[in-house]
Amino acid sequence: MFTPTDEKTEVKLLYVEDDVPTRDVITLMISRRFPQLTLLQAENGREGLDLYIAHHPDIIMTDILMSEIDGIRMSGEIKALDKNARIIVLSATSEMSFIIDAIDIGISHYVLKPVKFDKLANAIERCLKGIQRDRQIRQQEEHIRHMAYSDPLTGLPNRELFNELLHQSLAQAQRHNHDRHLAVLFLDLDRFKVINDTLGHSVGDQLLQAVANRLKSCCRRDRDVVARRGGDEFIILLPELDIPQEAVRVAQTIIDSFDKPFILPEHELFIGSCIGISIFPADGADVDTLIKNADMAMYRAKEQGRNRFHLYNRSMDAQAALRLTMEISLRRALKGQEFFLNYQPKVNVKTGRVVSFEALARWQNPELGLVEPKQFIPLAEETGLIDQLGEWVLRTACTQNKAWQDAKYPHLRVAVNFSPRQFLMLQLADMVENVLAETNLDPCWLELEVTEGIMLQNVENTIKTLHRLSVLGVHISIDDFGIGYSSLSYIKKLPINTLKIDQSFISDITSNPDDAAIATAVINMAQNLRLNVIAEGVENEAQARLLNSLECPEMQGYFFSKPLSAEKFPFLLHKRHWQSTSQPIHNA
Ligand code: C2E
Ligand code: MG
Ligand code: MG
Repeated sequence: MFTPTDEKTEVKLLYVEDDVPTRDVITLMISRRFPQLTLLQAENGREGLDLYIAHHPDIIMTDILMSEIDGIRMSGEIKALDKNARIIVLSATSEMSFIIDAIDIGISHYVLKPVKFDKLANAIERCLKGIQRDRQIRQQEEHIRHMAYSDPLTGLPNRELFNELLHQSLAQAQRHNHDRHLAVLFLDLDRFKVINDTLGHSVGDQLLQAVANRLKSCCRRDRDVVARRGGDEFIILLPELDIPQEAVRVAQTIIDSFDKPFILPEHELFIGSCIGISIFPADGADVDTLIKNADMAMYRAKEQGRNRFHLYNRSMDAQAALRLTMEISLRRALKGQEFFLNYQPKVNVKTGRVVSFEALARWQNPELGLVEPKQFIPLAEETGLIDQLGEWVLRTACTQNKAWQDAKYPHLRVAVNFSPRQFLMLQLADMVENVLAETNLDPCWLELEVTEGIMLQNVENTIKTLHRLSVLGVHISIDDFGIGYSSLSYIKKLPINTLKIDQSFISDITSNPDDAAIATAVINMAQNLRLNVIAEGVENEAQARLLNSLECPEMQGYFFSKPLSAEKFPFLLHKRHWQSTSQPIHNA
């Protein structure tokens, strides 16, 4: 006899009967004869149906004539939900029409009342055998499916199952009118063969299992498919992507995750990987093409070196691809010390002295060359990397300034540019304070250059942050002043020391009366508000003279000095470079 042993093999029997004494007696007898069954009881067809939906019993035993929903109707509804449901009808009537109804519905057994328990037990026994047979078949099917579709070493889907799943996802994506993307990532381990040959196949196997787990941890558990194609090749399906770039992020996450060693029972191994990416619909619309193109892209990645990914070309336009390459390089740049600072002096034209110097970030990338801040700052802002970059710039600038002060150069303020986005960081003031403390620089030797853009977001927090810094003694300047969007009233709310007239008003100041008028207005306003004012982007003597005649006290620009490297800048501090205003202004 079939004897269920654990929860998976539990068999539930639902008994629906409105006559309580009958139900009690039969229930008692069943529980004695079939102690392995879990019994559920209902009083009528409606309750029976509710219990069926809640518990999915394997066997349903029911009376026919009951209030609300009768046994035949209930059985019909259950059969509609599960055509394999096993139903035993118990009835006092042997009327042919009832029996025909029962047969039509697909009732398994019909037992006449008064019930001869042996007959009922027999029916139950036959149901149990059927259930056992069904379960065995299902298990075998699952086993065969598992064997046929999974990789025995890693337990991941194998090539066949991957192809099948990719096929299904493509069909779905095609129904979405091509506004959904889907990516195939083809991944190959670098120098796996060396590990296999030197440490043995069992270590190689352990490594492949560890790689399988790591790949899974980089993907979305509920949607993405990580499969092993064989050897050291893995293939990943990323369905339902809003934009192709998401695939690149996953590829980068995987490559970054390979920075950490794989911990095996007796070894800690580092291994790299190369990834090729193809994207539907741009790089192919069928299983074979997408896999072939991802494979080709993987070879291109390998040609370029280790730990890389490569996109099969057509997936993105050149612009998007360049941006993405830059984004990825930018993340690496922060780790790889590819940034440095140049310093540009700000000159007081009355005294001829440098009063401050602005730190300007530079990015030297081995592949992209020297990248302009105009290119990488907006990207760093969009990706949130600006917080890290900004902190690095601040720390480097403060350290440098302190070093020059310690080397007995004149004490000057170092000006650091802060992006509006950095003001979204709630502990910005703490960060600045910490850096000042760490570098041992007196706050009065730090200047922050912020743009009017800071007033477009989280105004309250921004004002609070600036006040805290101002109280500390940090000098605050509004950069690129005049091109902003906000009304001037905000200036009164901010603890500002200096306005920097944007260079767009300076470049044509000698020929464009409008620009000259704006510069004049800013200079006058600054004087009225008792603020310092400086003109930036002063490139020639004519501009400097005009600004001087407008009583602009400070200037910055190529006319005085281009931004200089940290090595060259101190030479400029040694001497008094610029004549006082009583003398003609010229570069000494
Ligand atoms: P900015 O703060 O207004 O800096 C002035 C820019 O004008 C600098 O460009 C500087 O090299 C350039 N410049 C200086 N004098 C002249 C001149 O006489 N003529 C002309 N045509 N240009 C002059 P750079 O270094 O390319 O920086 C561009 C912008 O990038 C900066 O504008 C600033 O907004 C941003 N930036 C630079 N470094 C950082 C940084 O560390 N953090 C943040 N958040 N932004 C930065
Ligand atoms: Mg600036
Ligand atoms: Mg500026």
